[in-house]
Amino acid sequence: MSRLWSSMVHNLHPYVPGEQPKEGTFIKLNTNENPYPPSPKVLAAIKEAANDDLRLYPDPISLALRKQIAQHHALEASQVFVGNGSDEVLAHIFHAFFMRPEPLQFPNISYSFYPVYCQLYGIEPNQVALNEDFEIELASYQSGPVILPNPNAPTGRLLGLEELEKRLRAFPDSLLVVDEAYIDFGGASADCLVGQYDNLLVTRTYSKSLSLAGIRLGYALGHAQLIEALIRVKDSFNSYPVDSLASAAGIAALADWSYYQSVNQQVIDNREGLVNQLDALGFVTLPSTANFVFTRHPKYQGGWLYQQLKDAGILVRHFNRPGLDQWLRISVGSSSDCDQLVKRLQQMLAAK
Ligand SMILES: *Cc1c(COP(=O)(O)O)cnc(C)c1O
Repeated sequence: MSRLWSSMVHNLHPYVPGEQPKEGTFIKLNTNENPYPPSPKVLAAIKEAANDDLRLYPDPISLALRKQIAQHHALEASQVFVGNGSDEVLAHIFHAFFMRPEPLQFPNISYSFYPVYCQLYGIEPNQVALNEDFEIELASYQSGPVILPNPNAPTGRLLGLEELEKRLRAFPDSLLVVDEAYIDFGGASADCLVGQYDNLLVTRTYSKSLSLAGIRLGYALGHAQLIEALIRVKDSFNSYPVDSLASAAGIAALADWSYYQSVNQQVIDNREGLVNQLDALGFVTLPSTANFVFTRHPKYQGGWLYQQLKDAGILVRHFNRPGLDQWLRISVGSSSDCDQLVKRLQQMLAAK
């Protein structure tokens, strides 16, 4: 087999997504999916779009969807790029902007897909250490391109817009990409800076706050010239990354934003409740503005807690790497998911 591979494939270390168990009934708190269903209007729009027109290719520039997204963010369609999940949008961003002489700077504890794209595209990574409170110290980043999730994953910690603006102003010739996969869970979006700074790209996903991980839809917001570069890369890769059903779903979801505001407020309330209950059990939890919490127990190993929970049918994420192996990343589930998690942790710690 391997004698037929391109030589670069031998050296790839692909991203490993959280488990999606096929069997058994797990409470899934390991991949930051939304515990609540998509808007009923989204399901209706998908059913309506499931008609004979599926024999036709979708609109290659996804104009209707981009207009809806633009309206949601008070921007123009020319400032919006859409793709098959924000992972694909990120891949095109790496391809379009980061294959340059300078290394790409990003936090050393961050979304683990970034180093994978660096390897795929031959980009030199410069992983900048978080401070001891797991915060991104943007002031210590040099000139050259930067990507960071805000709030950061897996820590959940948020940077304020003032800090992002300081960077944008100090390095007008360096691109800053803000990956806002979790911004709808309580943070302030940098979408309002897009009209002002031509060196800013903001990426978003439908997978978390819009309850549509199964649809694969994501987008980027930025100056029309940045979007133009992404369209060039896309049209050199796949002309139709967003299918007709995904497009219908994406339009209907943003059109029913009030539904998602109440769903995401429920997730935020569940998060606050969960953090309090983890506190009571002796866990140390970082302040989170996301739909997950990053937590550790001073007395128990992260790997042990992960395995005990898994044996009890509750999946959480454990990162088996130095500096993180004491921690668990737990997605905020429904109120009932959170109650069952806490009950199980109480039993485990009492039995020890
Ligand atoms: C989940 C996630 C993504 C990927 O989103 P998809 O649209 O599902 O590809 C991107 N960035 C971060 C930080 C994420 O956590």
